[in-house]
Amino acid sequence: MSQHEDRAADCADVVLRLFEYVDHELGPLDGDRIRTHLEECGSCLAEYERDLLIKALVRRACACEQAPAELRTQILTRITATRVTWGQPG
Ligand SMILES: [Zn+2]
Repeated sequence: MSQHEDRAADCADVVLRLFEYVDHELGPLDGDRIRTHLEECGSCLAEYERDLLIKALVRRACACEQAPAELRTQILTRITATRVTWGQPG
């Protein structure tokens, strides 16, 4: 496997685990690995920051229990729509 493929596989793994990382559900070894990757990888860092935002929004929408994936998707869609329509009057 080339270095490039290694990095891509790493990114996929990091993105998959971001929600666990954001929720502090990873052990110290996995957490360290992801934190190190975020320091080196701008695209995963952007994903991480978006996950933090989504987590905050999900918390506000439903403080009682973990939000279902469907709600997460709805919020994500809303964030994207908000970005697109920003600056347009009315
Ligand atoms: Zn990455």
